[in-house]
Amino acid sequence: MTVPWRRREVFAFLGLGSNLGDSLGTLQAAVERLDDDPDTRVDAISGVYQTDPVGGPDQDDFCNLAARVATRRSPRRLLALCQDVEGALGRVRAVRWGPRTIDVDILLYSDRTVSRKDLQVPHPRLLERPFALIPLIEVAPGQRLPDGSSLTAALAALAPVEGVRAIGTQVHLPGRAGEQR
Ligand code: AMP
Repeated sequence: MTVPWRRREVFAFLGLGSNLGDSLGTLQAAVERLDDDPDTRVDAISGVYQTDPVGGPDQDDFCNLAARVATRRSPRRLLALCQDVEGALGRVRAVRWGPRTIDVDILLYSDRTVSRKDLQVPHPRLLERPFALIPLIEVAPGQRLPDGSSLTAALAALAPVEGVRAIGTQVHLPGRAGEQR
C-alpha cells in the first residue's frame, strides 16, 4: 500500500484586517474559513485591535488581529488559501491601501524566508506596521524573525507607537464562542 506523502505541519502567522461593513463578523468568518481548510488549523488568535488607517485615502479605522495557524500548506498554497478567504468574504481590490472588507496576509511562515514576486515572507511591511506587529507579539510572544532578531525589538524600534488600541476579544477560535481563549 502506498501511503500518500503529506507535508509536515508547521506554524505560520497571519495578519487579518477589516474596515468595511461588519468588521468583527467578517474577521470571525475569516478565522472560521481558514480553520475549515483540511490542511490548516487556527491554533490561537490575538485580541482585536482598533487601528488608525495607514496610507491610502481617508477611511475608517481598521479592526486587526493576528492568528497562529498550524498548516501543511506550502507558503504559496497558504497564500492561495488567504486569497480564497478574501474572495469568499467579498473582498474587492479597488484602491491600493483603501478600505477593505477583509485582508489576510502571511506575516511569518515558520522560520522561513520567501522571496518570490508574488510572495515575500516575512511580510515586506511587517516591521513598519505596529498594527501588524502588536497583535503578532500577543499571539507569538517569543517568536523570532528568520534572521534571529526579536519581534519586540522590531516594535521597540518604532516607538513611540500610536493608533493601535486593544478593544477586546470579540473574535473567537472556531467552535469556542464564549470560552476563554
Ligand atoms: P494586499 O492588497 O495588501 O492584500 O496585497 C496583496 C498582494 O501582496 C498579493 O498580490 C500578494 O501576491 C502580495 N503579497 C506579497 N507578500 C505577501 C504576504 N506575505 N502575504 C500576503 N500577500 C502578499
